[in-house]
Amino acid sequence: WAKSEGKSRWALFDPERNAREVARFRLSATMPAALERDEFYVDYQPLVALADGRVIAVEALVRWQHPEHGLLAPDKFIGLAEETGLIVQLGRWVLEHTCRQARQWSDEFGDDAPFVSVNLAARQSRDPSLVSDVESILRDTGLRAGQLQLELTESAVMGTAEDQTSALRKLYDMGVRIAIDDFGTGYSNLAYLRRLPVHELKIAGSFVEGLRVAGRPDPVDEQIVGALVTLAHALGLTVTAEGVETAAQAERLRDIGCEAGQGWYFARPGPPAAINRLLATQRRR
Ligand code: C2E
Ligand code: MG
Ligand code: MG
Ligand code: MG
Repeated sequence: WAKSEGKSRWALFDPERNAREVARFRLSATMPAALERDEFYVDYQPLVALADGRVIAVEALVRWQHPEHGLLAPDKFIGLAEETGLIVQLGRWVLEHTCRQARQWSDEFGDDAPFVSVNLAARQSRDPSLVSDVESILRDTGLRAGQLQLELTESAVMGTAEDQTSALRKLYDMGVRIAIDDFGTGYSNLAYLRRLPVHELKIAGSFVEGLRVAGRPDPVDEQIVGALVTLAHALGLTVTAEGVETAAQAERLRDIGCEAGQGWYFARPGPPAAINRLLATQRRR
């Protein structure tokens, strides 16, 4: 109450805001049951080598098929799940589900199978059972550690507690790949980044956007992407560019030295069957 005192009374009783809060509360309250009822599922989006167009990895992107509200994108519920803590269970489900799928691709496509890349919320990376969860999921699914990548945002890894870095270190030492997601949009401490156990930087789509117009790219975005690629390579990391929507962008990124791209130009996120078709076509080539 004290905090609201300076504001108008109207703000205190804002009915729209109240309705939004109630809706959020209801949604978060139904999440545990939704998990039980299998209302969540995972779509997969390819990460493509810019040199030859091969699918090298697929990112797991969770969706919620809600019985009343229809299909919900992660932006609608991941934040909520972080607030309530359910992200730990949901995240574990995504991880296990994705590793099981990855094992199937591995069985069917052997060395041509992509590795899978799973997003980790900040709260998951702080969960003390993260390392043992990953270990037991790999054991149960029979997936090799190198076939799994975990994506964390800058804010989830930068300047955080020592034990969290040591969890990342353990995963890295096990052979699990670590990527920094949406790189360039958070607060990076370069001295810190230098010491982090990481394999890959994923450049945020917002920087890739400026490379859109063929022949007339935004010179500032060009310079930024170039600098990020140079930085990544100096640190011995590979680079994936996110949000690649046009051929011109893909070509420019390849020329700049970026290893991989992800975006609608290559493929939208889709069900495992769509990835199967891509991999089968690739195998025939
Ligand atoms: P992200 O990890 O950066 O994932 C990339 C997002 O960009 C996805 O949105 C993807 O559908 C979208 N995208 C892909 N290609 C393009 C393109 O060419 N243009 C544009 N404009 N967008 C493109 P999505 O699926 O809505 O996921 C949003 C975010 O939700 C993800 O961003 C990630 O941070 C989070 N998320 C998704 N699944 C999970 C999960 O299982 N666990 C956690 N903790 N977070 C997740
Ligand atoms: Mg991601
Ligand atoms: Mg991203
Ligand atoms: Mg993200």
